[in-house]
Amino acid sequence: MPASLLVRQARLPGHDDLQDVLVRDGRIAAIGTSVAAPRPDVLDDVPVEDVAGALVLPGLIDAHCHVDKTLWGGPWVPHAAGPRLVDRIANERDRRTDLGLPSPEHAADLLRHMAALGTTRVRTHTDVDPALGLAGIESVAKAADAVRGLVDVEQVAFPQDGVIRRPGTLELLEAALDAGATTLGGIDPAGVDDDPLGQLDALFEIAARRGAGIDIHLHDTGSLGAWQFGLVARRTVAFGLQGKVALSHADALGTVPEDERFRLIDLLAESGVAVITAAVYDVPVPSVRDLAERGVTLACGSDGIRDLWGPYGNGDMIERAMHVAYRNGLRRDEDIALALDCATTGAAHLLGLDSYGLVPGAPGDLVVVPARTVAEAVVARPTRALVVKDGHVIARHGELVHPTHLEFPS
Ligand SMILES: [Zn+2]
Repeated sequence: MPASLLVRQARLPGHDDLQDVLVRDGRIAAIGTSVAAPRPDVLDDVPVEDVAGALVLPGLIDAHCHVDKTLWGGPWVPHAAGPRLVDRIANERDRRTDLGLPSPEHAADLLRHMAALGTTRVRTHTDVDPALGLAGIESVAKAADAVRGLVDVEQVAFPQDGVIRRPGTLELLEAALDAGATTLGGIDPAGVDDDPLGQLDALFEIAARRGAGIDIHLHDTGSLGAWQFGLVARRTVAFGLQGKVALSHADALGTVPEDERFRLIDLLAESGVAVITAAVYDVPVPSVRDLAERGVTLACGSDGIRDLWGPYGNGDMIERAMHVAYRNGLRRDEDIALALDCATTGAAHLLGLDSYGLVPGAPGDLVVVPARTVAEAVVARPTRALVVKDGHVIARHGELVHPTHLEFPS
């Protein structure tokens, strides 16, 4: 149930004076210096939070994670996979069942932790393959139900092990759309599937017919990756899917010569294909400044969080923005703010949200941090003083206000 709340003395990006933010029935109703003036007709029934000059940001968005894979909340599991992508895929296939994955409990534990850190919306890639069927999709749907009111969850049906090389996967991806997934995933059409035209033609046909989006993990580097940018861009335009297609990681952007990089960025801008970065490990990162200047939608996400792919990650999107900024070598305040945009406005644009941000009409999803500027928040990554979802205070000082005890029907 949406709620109302008045947040007083908020420091908002772009405003010199402290502002009041009034949330009515789960949506921002007004922002201004005079919202809190004595107006009994407006304020009598509205709880008040005075944040005393702390920085207020819109609810953070994790645009790329894998909550179905996480071991969050369970005992520590030492990493055991080999160094290559195919080693990690094989390791996960071998061990996931023994470790109880996919697990709605682990996924919900992680989602609650993310909510406490100010993430109010998540797009998560859920494994779909012939061995698992739709078990992952159903598991994450259960977890999403358990955290309803804390964080909104949408799923990408993700063919981690390939599409064409794993017969039956394509049919399962489409079935996942019936089961609630909103987006079709893909993975290295050349590098993993060894059939780039086959994978892409199949995904775009389904997406166009079903009105779904597409989000492809593209780790292929150099000219092989760059070539697939063209394949994706041409199909995006041909199928009229501009604004609904994204390349996750897009490693080629960080591994081709500069003139080729700009050609690829312009190609993405012209075809309405977004980029999602995670800035994890030693993976090449796309240039935040170049993408922003040339009009490409750029979002970021945690990618794997404490799973069989690696031990790192904590679901903190301000920390993720720091990684994006740091890996890009960003030092000026206005540049560091671009990194946080990947977890706010850029991600909202990627997800096609009608209304988002610190504007009237947007959802009453807010994060309050003790900082004076966005750059200070990104660099210092302070404890979240307050998290508001749909007008409800859901977390204080980095902890959920009402830690829910989850019960999952069998
Ligand atoms: Zn991923």
